[in-house]
Amino acid sequence: MALLVQKYGGTSMGSVERIDHVASKVAAARERGHQIVVVVSAMSGETDRLMKLAKGINPRSNPRELDQMLATGEQVTIALLAMALEKRGVPARSYLGSQVAIHTDQAYNKARIKSIDGERLLADCKAGIVPVVAGFQGVDDEGNITTLGRGGSDTTGVALAAALKADECQIYTDVDGVYTTDPRVEPKARRLDRITFEEMLEMASLGSKVLQIRSVEFAGKYKVPLRVLSTFQEGPGTLITFEETKMEDALISGIAFNRDEAQLTVSGVPDRPGIAAAILGPVGEANIEVDMIVQNVAADSTTDFTFTVHRNDYERATEVSKKVAEELKAKGVRTALDIVKVSLVGVGMRSHAGIAAQMFRVLAAEGINIRMISTSEIKISVVIEDKYLELAVRALHKAFKLDENPAH
Ligand code: ADP
Ligand code: ASP
Ligand code: MG
Repeated sequence: MALLVQKYGGTSMGSVERIDHVASKVAAARERGHQIVVVVSAMSGETDRLMKLAKGINPRSNPRELDQMLATGEQVTIALLAMALEKRGVPARSYLGSQVAIHTDQAYNKARIKSIDGERLLADCKAGIVPVVAGFQGVDDEGNITTLGRGGSDTTGVALAAALKADECQIYTDVDGVYTTDPRVEPKARRLDRITFEEMLEMASLGSKVLQIRSVEFAGKYKVPLRVLSTFQEGPGTLITFEETKMEDALISGIAFNRDEAQLTVSGVPDRPGIAAAILGPVGEANIEVDMIVQNVAADSTTDFTFTVHRNDYERATEVSKKVAEELKAKGVRTALDIVKVSLVGVGMRSHAGIAAQMFRVLAAEGINIRMISTSEIKISVVIEDKYLELAVRALHKAFKLDENPAH
């Protein structure tokens, strides 16, 4: 008998029929003798719908009120799933984050889980009751409802698994595992049987939304066995492993991309010490996270300073940069939203030179201009024009033989 945390995502909970199907899966796992704790997302589209309502009132809604509202999506699905389980004769009880209790800090819209009191859930399991917990939400020390950022139900699932010392956290979704790249962009993408924790962390942080990055961080910190599986088809899914893979494995495990970034360039800045700090200091003070950074030196000893931020921060970052540009007597600020970051990820890169050069050759052969580059030990990222996303991903997928070689 194992204790399993099963998390079902938005598509899996997307209709009454699908919720019934999820109930049948939970019931079947229970019949196999396992204790199950379920975490669910809101019905697909619901969180977006709520977000739009808020934007209609005020594009910069009060973050506390936003969370108060966003958390309702999951309140509906927990109760519906509990009802569907009871209909099948499976005793079940639904819980909001505050009822569990999942304690977070007060960073509305991107709160971090601080602690979870698993007692009540374990007592339910012992009594043969299936607890159904609302994903994506928690409660701060003052009783305010918080949410964990988009895709945050994954993190609820893994955090619960860690708190309950579950044998496995199973993320049930609309794909049957982690693929070499998003199968919606490259239909030839291949499911990986296993992926190392490090690679999954990179993939998630570079934009693969199959798992929220914080859920992977949690899994790493507490060594939670984590698996991604399909709600709609049987199969082994993808195991996130903590073992290093062998040297003869593929160099590249996957391609990630991120459409959520914006590019800003402060141009014609006098090239002297302290410029990077002068520009990025105020950006950081405005609580804006910077991702990639490039600085070019022009012949006239001025420099162009380019960086990327999340699209949600684009307007504020532009405001701040314009102010800084004026103070520094720079030429001006250029911005671009028509960009995408494409990244190659693989632990095999560590021991092989020349991957970057090959990547640039492949993109050049397709006539794709590279606007920014950044590398680390196990990834290479480039920023390109967004209209080339599909072309770039498919060309790289083919060139690095991701559709052929089992990577692991
Ligand atoms: P859920 O609602 O179940 O949380 P998500 O939409 O958040 O589901 O995540 C699943 C989606 O992630 C898939 O439908 C797929 O399009 C996308 N995705 C992106 N990158 C990958 C990848 N490397 N492997 C599998 N799916 C990926
Ligand atoms: N419902 C939330 C969202 O759409 C959380 C989740 O699905 O994981 O982002
Ligand atoms: Mg998700």
